[in-house]
Amino acid sequence: MTKHVVIVGNGIAGSEAAREARRVDPNARITVLSEESDRPFSRPGLMYAACGQMAPADLFPFGDAPATRAALTGVDVANRRVLRLDGDPIAYDALVLACGSRPRRPAWSGIDLAGIGHFVSWQDLVWFEAEVHGHGIADAPIPGASDSPYRARPARQGHRPSHPVVIGGGLVGIEAVEVLVAAGLKPTFLLRDDAFWPIALSTRESEVVVERLRHDGVDVHTRVHVEGFAGDGRVEQVRTDGGDIACDFAVVAVGVEPHTRWLADSGLNFAHGGIVVDATMSAAPGVWAAGDAAALPSPSGHRPWPLWYAARDTGRVAGVCAAGGLARWERGVPTNAARLADMDYLTAGEMDGDATWFDEERGPVHSTLRIALRNGRIVGFTSLGRRWHVAAMAHMIQEGWTLGRVLDALPTAAFDTEFVTPYRPTSNAGMRP
Ligand SMILES: Cc1cc2nc3c(=O)[nH]c(=O)nc-3n(C[C@H](O)[C@H](O)[C@H](O)COP(=O)(O)OP(=O)(O)OC[C@H]3O[C@@H](n4cnc5c(N)ncnc54)[C@H](O)[C@@H]3O)c2cc1C
Repeated sequence: MTKHVVIVGNGIAGSEAAREARRVDPNARITVLSEESDRPFSRPGLMYAACGQMAPADLFPFGDAPATRAALTGVDVANRRVLRLDGDPIAYDALVLACGSRPRRPAWSGIDLAGIGHFVSWQDLVWFEAEVHGHGIADAPIPGASDSPYRARPARQGHRPSHPVVIGGGLVGIEAVEVLVAAGLKPTFLLRDDAFWPIALSTRESEVVVERLRHDGVDVHTRVHVEGFAGDGRVEQVRTDGGDIACDFAVVAVGVEPHTRWLADSGLNFAHGGIVVDATMSAAPGVWAAGDAAALPSPSGHRPWPLWYAARDTGRVAGVCAAGGLARWERGVPTNAARLADMDYLTAGEMDGDATWFDEERGPVHSTLRIALRNGRIVGFTSLGRRWHVAAMAHMIQEGWTLGRVLDALPTAAFDTEFVTPYRPTSNAGMRP
């Protein structure tokens, strides 16, 4: 009998799951459902499109068969059916939930005023482009639940903000700031902590990023607690513990959470909002979960791991298993790459060793390099301002190389273009307390 594999979500996790399911069972009937978009697109590419460095159409590089646009409202696990807002339930033999993340939305007063939004979904990009550049991208919205992150939002056309504000000092917040800078604006950037992104960066790395932002005209405020927004229909002020800040456009970027509220009555288990899965991505009989929506096994319990490569790899495992094959996910060396204030950022491994080696170069290239060691062996690597081959870094960490061996091998791991002066440790490089 032909097996019906239903996949919710056509982000990287859902798309990879569909591809693997097709490979494992070429005869399966595969249905991909997505509220956001009928074709998979690159979510990390949102910033590049909004900066004008890529055309929005280039965010859709995959030629996969289109997904069916549908807003889903629940899963009936006992009867193996997915429920939707409009239309009959969809029966499945195997279900993969790859329903991603949604932006956190604090219960601040005035958060529903016009001119306030997020920077996570395709619909956010459509809104952002219209608000910031005064012209929109063509879009075909579908009706979603009233709190859906994929709901089309009205945007002010033909106007550019004069007091843009970004709230939240993480990866998405700094990307929104960069887009505003690229649009020739001078945003205010409100950070709750003493420094930018202290969970990932050292004090010096954070200072380097903030120096660069200020150089670009960004008004960075640290230790600010936002209390709400005020305005007459449209946002005019951000209310903070230090007073009101003028604002006619605000991006709230205070993190993401698994987009799983619509599954509250499904009987599935959740941890930190994510669907609890084992190493085969199994969540319940006939149900697998993957990507940002899953709470993955880790040494400290089940947790979401909302990063692109984790979503890709867990999506592949879920697709194989849902189609009847065998696969297991292994955590491996965690890695992340991004751009912070126009500087390349790469991290690999864990930065909590028992010793730290650090270097900062301030020549033709301004860069920092931090290597975490445990018992004399590399366990983590963080770099700003240069490009390194992430697989080479992960390999050194996996094999537990000594500091000397890592430094000798760095030239072979460089990923900068040929016109960039090669990295050499400076005279200030060395161990730090
Ligand atoms: C601006 C930005 C920049 C980023 N940059 C990086 C980066 O540099 N490096 C990195 O590692 N990670 C980055 N990330 C994170 C990365 O994009 C995510 O980890 C990854 O895209 C998650 O993929 P996913 O397939 O799990 O979910 P998603 O891509 O979120 O896809 C989920 C899909 O599920 C569908 N869906 C959900 N609920 C429903 C429903 N009820 N009904 C119908 N359909 C539904 C939606 O249509 C959606 O398309 C970034 C994220 C953002 C927002």
